[in-house]
Amino acid sequence: SVEEQKKNFTLKNSEEAFNVAKELMPGGVNSPVRAFKSVGGQPIVFDSVKGSHMWDIDGNEYIDYVGSWGPAIIGHADDQVLAALGETMKKGTSFGAPCLLENVLAEMVISAVPSIEMVRFVNSGTEACMGVLRLARAFTGRERIIKFEGCYHGHADPFLVKAGSGVATLGLPDSPGVPKGATYETLTAPFNDVSALENLFENNKGEIAAIILEPVVGNSGFIAPKPDFLNAIRRITKENGALLIFDEVMTGFRLAYGGAQEYFGVTPDLTTLGKIIGGGLPVGAYGGRRDIMEMVAPAGPMYQAGTLSGNPLAMTAGIHTLKRLKEPGTYEYLNKITGELTQGIIDAGKKAGHAICGGYISGMFGFFFTEGPVYNFEDAKKSDTTKFARFYRGMLEEGVYFAPSQFEAGFTSLAHSSDDIQHTITAAEKNVFTYG
Ligand code: PLP
Repeated sequence: SVEEQKKNFTLKNSEEAFNVAKELMPGGVNSPVRAFKSVGGQPIVFDSVKGSHMWDIDGNEYIDYVGSWGPAIIGHADDQVLAALGETMKKGTSFGAPCLLENVLAEMVISAVPSIEMVRFVNSGTEACMGVLRLARAFTGRERIIKFEGCYHGHADPFLVKAGSGVATLGLPDSPGVPKGATYETLTAPFNDVSALENLFENNKGEIAAIILEPVVGNSGFIAPKPDFLNAIRRITKENGALLIFDEVMTGFRLAYGGAQEYFGVTPDLTTLGKIIGGGLPVGAYGGRRDIMEMVAPAGPMYQAGTLSGNPLAMTAGIHTLKRLKEPGTYEYLNKITGELTQGIIDAGKKAGHAICGGYISGMFGFFFTEGPVYNFEDAKKSDTTKFARFYRGMLEEGVYFAPSQFEAGFTSLAHSSDDIQHTITAAEKNVFTYG
């Protein structure tokens, strides 16, 4: 019985374990998309990860393209990261006081990311976006912000307007519990639509503090900016005295060592980071122009704090992950294998007569079951999600673990081999043909 299982956590079966989990945690999970709501069936309960592979509690092995939703870019449970964590752990897990490792990671981040002259570490991407928003409002003395439909900036109130990720996957309206006042100052526009932005600025003269965006969207599937979209946003924000914020929680250190801003050559005023810079431990960060960052307490009056912020374990995992990424050839390798993977899946789908499109940059990719092109969330929503769900379940049976939603990007890592990619493409060919 569930009662018995609650007492005895030696379950060896995903289905049973998830049934217990559902009694203990809302929907059986601690983050919604993990529950497989949009692809059906039972989620897999995992036991261990290494490199590009994961093992469930039933003993099945999977090639992983979720990478813990982004952090695992050098592969899961990297030996060097684990060894470094072991050394750090001997000195304790949290000081709640300055530690040298904060300087090391801060220096690495500042020298890598073009916009960042000063940085503040926090514990998640959500916190990073909350902090950066308060900062942009404090600095400009304005309250309105613009975000894009289908972009996700964590689960803080002001961002839960036409949000991507789990909100999009579950087809939720903007969440209950968010007070009207919290989102009153949040304006939205379709991604890749410059004239919609110009209209918003025209109608809210002198009131817009900032535009925040995922420079490449990963939270409504993979959506790249049209050529010059980012340049246009940079120009419009400058002309209107608004700040430009790149939410690089996903794209930072993933598209290039310096993130999307290095890749596209467009420098925002402020940047948020997370995922990769914590190497699999909980971290976020926001940073940018020194004159803006000096408003953050205690250098300035804008308050933001964190009990575990900058803790030595998270700093260590981040430092050793970035060290590995800095080695020559990293992003070329990611780009090569991710290109082969994405093209292989699209070719397999097309050959079987399906409407399918997709894209990739470095270690980030996505594909939609629609003709395309996909420039924004409305385009993405034209995808055949039933077909995706069928494809998804079939791929799982072939030992391939994608993000369980049509509206999430996929990730490769330095640990993915040519064999992994070939196995995945072969599985897709078989699967797409078999399941139609
Ligand atoms: N911003 C972006 C672009 C993200 O992809 C995410 C998470 O997926 C977040 C913010 C929120 O980060 P976290 O889940 O660490 O709070």
